[in-house]
Amino acid sequence: MKNNYVTISKNIFIPVTNVCRNRCEYCGFRARSLEDAYIIQMKEFLALVKTKGAATEALFTAGENPELSNLSLFFTKHLIETGSGCSSLIEYTKDLCKVAIKHGLLPHCNLGVLSREELNELREVNASMGLMLETTAELEAHKNSPGKIPTERLKMIAEAGKLEIPFTTGLLIGIGEKLRDRIRSLNAIKSLHDKYGHIQEVILQPFVPKPSTAMWNKKPPSFEELREVVRAARAILPDEIAIQVPPNLTSAKAIIELGASDLGGISEKTMDYINPESPWPKEEELRRIIAPSELRERLPIYPRFIKMGWYSEEIRPLIERYADEEGLRLRRKEGI
Ligand code: SF4
Repeated sequence: MKNNYVTISKNIFIPVTNVCRNRCEYCGFRARSLEDAYIIQMKEFLALVKTKGAATEALFTAGENPELSNLSLFFTKHLIETGSGCSSLIEYTKDLCKVAIKHGLLPHCNLGVLSREELNELREVNASMGLMLETTAELEAHKNSPGKIPTERLKMIAEAGKLEIPFTTGLLIGIGEKLRDRIRSLNAIKSLHDKYGHIQEVILQPFVPKPSTAMWNKKPPSFEELREVVRAARAILPDEIAIQVPPNLTSAKAIIELGASDLGGISEKTMDYINPESPWPKEEELRRIIAPSELRERLPIYPRFIKMGWYSEEIRPLIERYADEEGLRLRRKEGI
């Protein structure tokens, strides 16, 4: 059933570390050397959380499996310096999630490919989790990225379904895949959802070339290509899966007319660390752009999963505090 509103989630964006085992050719996020590597320290994180503003979501991203990267020694040393006593990215992020919850934020982790055990470990402290499928095609851009093997990613998405984790995935458009690959990728997501019912949204994210990367001179996808994928996604995916387009990377209005219904997370306090050159539009601007559709705020867990009780006791108090009877975020005038 089509809603007459478009949703956003207000978040703070937390890059836990930019150390990553993969070397995707379009990536401007991964640390190339010791000089630009970091891991967020607890003090920094607390400062961020305390100035969360209107956010209800803590979006955690990180390089994948930093323990296996060429900067693993840096990662391990700096992880020790956090004083957390944690010995892995997963343990440390779990601690950060707990702190976020204490400060009224619902975590959503997207940390790359995780094992079933790792998903299970993070499940209780997350409102939802995510992993971009990106594509089912084997691409040149991923030749040095063991975590981008499509079967590995599909396997993790399936495991999340078995564990009843509300899940976000998506496609990265324009990294060398063809239209038929995009259709295949959408069908693969649909098949997993048919089996486990856990996909809440599919992000259709256009590739944006980044300086100092192997793909800096590749063209981003045209708007027509993006429209084509949105049309295909709406035709292939069931209505209960929202199609999300990032409003800082494309013209939201035209895409919404084709069936996209979510504009993802926007943040007052933090930037888009993956696309730092593209600031998020302000909420008021988005309202104006999408009118006459209404802009509604949602939580990182979609209403359907709140109704089904797909959340842990750890986050229940926050869901009870923030969700209205529809499962969206309480309108600001009604509460906190
Ligand atoms: S997995 Fe993500 S962070 Fe790592 S290199 Fe690829 S795009 Fe960059």
